[in-house]
Amino acid sequence: MTLEPQPVDRTLWFEAALTPDGWARDVRLSVGGGRIVGLETGAARGAADQGGGVALPGVANVHSHAFQRAMAGLTEARGPSEDDFWTWRELMYRFLDRGGPEEIEAITALAFIEMLEGGFTRVAEFHYLHNDPAGAAYADRAEIAGRIAAAAQAAGIALTLLPVFYAHAGFGGQPPSHGQRRFISDLDGFADLVSRCRALTGDLSDAVVGVAPHSLRAVSPEELAMLPALAGDGPIHIHVAEQTKEVEDCRAWSGARPVEWLLTHAPVDTRWCLIHATHVTEAEWRGIADRGAVVGLCPITEANLGDGVFPAADYLHAGGRFGVGTDSNVQIGVAEELRLLEYSQRLARRGRAVMADSARSTGRALFERALAGGAQAAGAAGGLAVGAPADIVVLDTRGIAFAGRSGDAILDSWIFGAPGGAVGSVWRAGREVVRNGRHVARDAIEDRYRRALATVLG
Ligand code: ZN
Repeated sequence: MTLEPQPVDRTLWFEAALTPDGWARDVRLSVGGGRIVGLETGAARGAADQGGGVALPGVANVHSHAFQRAMAGLTEARGPSEDDFWTWRELMYRFLDRGGPEEIEAITALAFIEMLEGGFTRVAEFHYLHNDPAGAAYADRAEIAGRIAAAAQAAGIALTLLPVFYAHAGFGGQPPSHGQRRFISDLDGFADLVSRCRALTGDLSDAVVGVAPHSLRAVSPEELAMLPALAGDGPIHIHVAEQTKEVEDCRAWSGARPVEWLLTHAPVDTRWCLIHATHVTEAEWRGIADRGAVVGLCPITEANLGDGVFPAADYLHAGGRFGVGTDSNVQIGVAEELRLLEYSQRLARRGRAVMADSARSTGRALFERALAGGAQAAGAAGGLAVGAPADIVVLDTRGIAFAGRSGDAILDSWIFGAPGGAVGSVWRAGREVVRNGRHVARDAIEDRYRRALATVLG
């Protein structure tokens, strides 16, 4: 299912493109070796040019657990107790009883092609499924990591692989529960896993490897202190302050709130991405902004799980950086995440256009901030500029939602006014991986996914 190699030298022409300098019209991009090697504006379309529509830079998805895609729609019934995050997690544990390497790879590949179809050209995969369903290490410790890399190769998406360190069931180094047996490793084994991840992604174009301490619940302070050194130049991601119960448990353990504890005890800087950070005080979100770290917001999953609302508007206007992640992958798309991010702020603040700034519309400000924060958090620069990977998302502006639109109104109409499917084509490293809104390998990847689901759910 790996994509056939395509000729790398081509020219693409667009009626408009969003470059680091703003909107440009009649843009021709020359692509060679998977990179943008030339950019002309005010260019007439040539006979050999491919493309059309409006070109946007591909965005990085800063947080994904791809295998959870297969659980979408299966966790919406009420449990015997109050139906919150904790009952959802119990369902995930049961799901993990039957998913082996083949099933995980098949589910991951489907999630990855849907990310490309939704406008993400890179995924930061927060990978914690290390052991077999019985909880034993695979003969190759990086068995599942290798499956994720294979899925990325099949889909053609750029991969930032974040092997997760997970050792405890709760604050204070509590021993792991039976439900967590597939996630657990010790520090020596984890260091070995990280180096195996570097080796197995060596052939993937533009791959990045970082590390992810799972959370302050799952990692002791002593373990957390050891992990940044393993990241090398790569990013460091951690779940933090997603649930009010986590905040209460952290205070009971340490006297501090989770983000407060992290900022005090860990070397949080521009390499770090704090996933969720939903429940923060003003001192905490100002602390994150001051350190230059990225907050990884996952609006659809946070809404699905009933987590709460991060104070994004205040944080943004204080210079805070954010990226967006699809997390549980219950629904996948750049526009969908940005729309819900803005709408949640409007509902909480009872105001309109709260994420816009003086120079940019809401959609443009959201998109460009998610682009920059995503690139930082995923450890890979992007943008429609000479030298960058040719990762290009093309909006099909023949759709009626774009009639009469230009400039920022194109982004606003995509995010707030267009039905799904406005992404026409996607180029990743100079190859067209989505054409007419559909991934070029979708049929084969869907077939494999259906077989995997029969095994997992049958
Ligand atoms: Zn997560």
